[in-house]
Amino acid sequence: MQDAAVLIVGGGPCGLMLANELGRRGVAAILVDDKAGTTTKPQANATQARTMEHYRRLGFAEEIRALGLPGDYPTDMAYFTRFIRYELARYQLPSARDARVIIKSLAGDWSAAELPHRCSQLYIEPILRDHAARLPSISLRYGWQLIALDDNGDGVDATITRTADGTTQQLRVGWLIGCDGPRSFVRKTLGFNLLGEGGAQRDFMGGRMQMLHFRAPHLYDIIPHGKAWMYWAFNSERRCFMCALDGVKDFVFHTQLRPGEHEEDVTDESMHAMLEQVVGLRFPIEVLGRAAWTAGFALVAERFQRGRVFLAGDAAHLFTPSGGLGYNTGIEDAVNLGWKLAAVARGWASPALMESYEAERRPVALRNTAFARGFAARIGVAPAPMIEEQTSAGAEARRKAGDYLNAAIRAEFNIPGVTFGARYDGSPVIVPDGTVPPPDSANSYTPTACPGGRAPHRWLPDGRSLFDLFGFEFTLLCVRPELGRGLADAAARLGIPVTVLDMPDEETRALYEADLVLIRPDQVVAWRGVEPPRDVETLWQVVAGAKGTMQPAVAASG
Ligand SMILES: Cc1cc2nc3c(=O)[nH]c(=O)nc-3n(C[C@H](O)[C@H](O)[C@H](O)COP(=O)(O)OP(=O)(O)OC[C@H]3O[C@@H](n4cnc5c(N)ncnc54)[C@H](O)[C@@H]3O)c2cc1C
Repeated sequence: MQDAAVLIVGGGPCGLMLANELGRRGVAAILVDDKAGTTTKPQANATQARTMEHYRRLGFAEEIRALGLPGDYPTDMAYFTRFIRYELARYQLPSARDARVIIKSLAGDWSAAELPHRCSQLYIEPILRDHAARLPSISLRYGWQLIALDDNGDGVDATITRTADGTTQQLRVGWLIGCDGPRSFVRKTLGFNLLGEGGAQRDFMGGRMQMLHFRAPHLYDIIPHGKAWMYWAFNSERRCFMCALDGVKDFVFHTQLRPGEHEEDVTDESMHAMLEQVVGLRFPIEVLGRAAWTAGFALVAERFQRGRVFLAGDAAHLFTPSGGLGYNTGIEDAVNLGWKLAAVARGWASPALMESYEAERRPVALRNTAFARGFAARIGVAPAPMIEEQTSAGAEARRKAGDYLNAAIRAEFNIPGVTFGARYDGSPVIVPDGTVPPPDSANSYTPTACPGGRAPHRWLPDGRSLFDLFGFEFTLLCVRPELGRGLADAAARLGIPVTVLDMPDEETRALYEADLVLIRPDQVVAWRGVEPPRDVETLWQVVAGAKGTMQPAVAASG
């Protein structure tokens, strides 16, 4: 007897997203989190477009886009010497209201159903929680901590304790997923090391950081520049970034301790003084919270799975937040794990499907941490000492800094390649077709249906997103519908849920370069061809995890 199919340890964005993926498929899951509720810290601020596409697939992208800044607030990033002094660089980006409209006219790099949304994790987690809580197969248990686990081969025995009174309880589940964050108890219990760069030191974004969550309704009156979502200070005395949270009064400020400053001496007052340094003026604030964190990590766990226990999110990989990739990579872990766990739990996929999780997600974690590390190195350089001087040398230093920062800011935040270009080449459940995917690059993305990548997106003539027509499980996209019947019948015989989507038009044919395309529940192309494979059942068995290989029967053609 099991208490649930899945125990999710940790109710951060990754664990909550996994609860949504499982709950939407009717899989019984218990989520435990040792806190009393969702996070009280405004950590992640950038929801990437791919994460927004997943929220759209689950039906709550619009709810998320309504959170945070007012609808008409620009999501610019801007660099200043100090916020009331010289503006050095600015990357203008649309408000949430404009993002909804603009996305429908974009193609190429930004060919997508959603644009990014700049909003704090503080506001997003409650939405993820509320949706999960409404799903009948999901039980959310805040205030419970996992303290022991034992994988006995047929299931996992877990001991949880209620943090309020120490009551303990034994649970037996089919799988246990450690979404328990950077200090993951699950990872440590499995004995998996984090590998990579553990503590890069830089002038900024490499060292111990201090975070101040504060309220200051008059700050916008003080800053004589256009509003921004992210404000950066670039001077020799103190560097920082500060995010506008609600566009009215609440902000979060992050700074790195300078040589000679010690964490044990940091107080609300000293943080207030550091904030005033970067603004360039004294002003009152109300302190809402304070925390410390470390920048300079690019770490990935050596394994993501042992037996029935898996790692996801920060438990599996640790980023420096440049580029805003930590939470977004965790969301994609949850999406990948969610459909696979559900497929095995519901009996239509082989248990071996679970092995493809690490094969697919660990390389992406290595890729994404490397991109974030590169962004941090770029913005971690020291400003010229005369950058604030009212001299010609000072003006020249500001001009040079402006050029540098304008390029750096775009390199870090215009990242369709990072967002859409992650691939699962080499995965045992992807059937290659002999074509070569476009080069992997942070700042450019070439839509491709080469198996192993995100399905290319297009807007249909009636204004709908192609992604909105995909099924919740597999989708068989048929440009020549008469060719797809055998594949659909085979899926029915094998009990594999598939939505057949007939798209007999030239634009779809050109975009997908094939007549038949098999798209997974996570919107990744698993297979494509110009005719059905010789053995249609083998194709389904391979993509559903039964070990075996398929020859690319007929390569796709343009
Ligand atoms: C300053 C800063 C800015 C950031 N900005 C961005 C950004 O813009 N974009 C981005 O993508 N990422 C960003 N990140 C990273 C992002 O915040 C994390 O990647 C994200 O929170 C990870 O989500 P998670 O669900 O994996 O883990 P967490 O959010 O850490 O959640 C783990 C949960 O598990 C709980 N837990 C731990 N142990 C146990 C246990 N034994 N039993 C029960 N519960 C347990 C914890 O209490 C916690 O609630 C930023 C991080 C920082 C510090």
